[in-house]
Amino acid sequence: MSSAPLGLAIVGFGGMGHEHQRKLEGMKELVVKGTFDVKADRQSLALSLGLKAYPTFQAVLADPGVAVVLIATPNDSHKHLAVAALTAGKHVICEKPVALNTAELDEIVAASKKADRLFMVHQNRRWDEDYLTVKKILADGTLGKFYHLESRVLGSRGIPGDWRKVERFGGGMMLDWGVHLLDRLVFLIPGRITQIFCKLNYPTGQEVDEGFHLFLTFEGGQTALVEVGTCHYQPLPLWLVLGTRGTALIKDWSLEGGIVAVGGREGDAKPIVAGAGLTKTMAPRTEAGEVRSPLPVVKSDVRDFYRNFVRAAQGLEAPLVSNDEVRRIMRLMETAFESHRNGQALPFE
Ligand code: NAD
Repeated sequence: MSSAPLGLAIVGFGGMGHEHQRKLEGMKELVVKGTFDVKADRQSLALSLGLKAYPTFQAVLADPGVAVVLIATPNDSHKHLAVAALTAGKHVICEKPVALNTAELDEIVAASKKADRLFMVHQNRRWDEDYLTVKKILADGTLGKFYHLESRVLGSRGIPGDWRKVERFGGGMMLDWGVHLLDRLVFLIPGRITQIFCKLNYPTGQEVDEGFHLFLTFEGGQTALVEVGTCHYQPLPLWLVLGTRGTALIKDWSLEGGIVAVGGREGDAKPIVAGAGLTKTMAPRTEAGEVRSPLPVVKSDVRDFYRNFVRAAQGLEAPLVSNDEVRRIMRLMETAFESHRNGQALPFE
């Protein structure tokens, strides 16, 4: 198998397209040959970085030096660009959310099979260290029997940019951030998702969801709350993980937080004054009755995504992001939208 790098073209050289170019710099497996963007200033940026600025998408497809097309355009254009690139014999890396719905994804997968080219979605947040740390905590079993977790991201500046606020471009926070949080969640809690309930929110009256609360129940009885907000002015933890003998908390992306677990010598709780009353149930534990430990931080390198993509395209490894996994999450989001519309909890699997 040749070890020459595969030539790659980035279609859509906006915020994320440029980020891919930065991440790919210096990699021996893939080399960015050029970009195509419908905006002149993004084409100029590509030229200023020493890249080729293809005049059209067709010119990208016609270049035999391009083996891989990376799609980083707004969400509504992923399907037709992916199908065209696969049909032209290119392997494709596609930004998340893969498309607007499962029907579009099915068309892409059919094109991928027909052309015998790899199609892989950039679910890069599987490499987030906060997520990998939660995964390790659950695998270590330090919290006792795990029964509930919360996974959230919150901002206060509303939905950024232009197309993300527009429904027909595939805007909204479920497709933008929900897809990441749900994609990871299902690796933390095994088994079928039996029921979900979703409430989207529109606090400033946008046409797309500005955030949501999504409650999931798994077949083992565990539950999860996934929350995304863009009109939220106080921080809440990225992660809260509850087990029968401990709680883990990750505050933010700097990985501040820790684990509090049951210690050896907790006596009977004494009532404390709480507001206008007394409580024994909610009295805090004593120092002797708990053990505080730091998070077992897991390190990662998101460039392993691209390395795996190349090896998968060469038939040497299975893709780390499979289209079946991506389809399950797309169906989950579709069911979440339906739950919101109906105002009901819905069975899922
Ligand atoms: P952006 O608006 O910054 O960039 C999109 C670019 O695509 C723009 O420069 C626009 O001119 C160009 N474009 C639009 N239609 C095109 C077409 N038909 N052909 C060529 N170029 C076209 O948006 P963004 O934030 O970079 O998001 C792009 C994609 O990346 C979205 O799917 C988004 O969900 C995804 N994204 C992923 C992550 C991640 O962490 N995986 C982060 C941000 C964005």
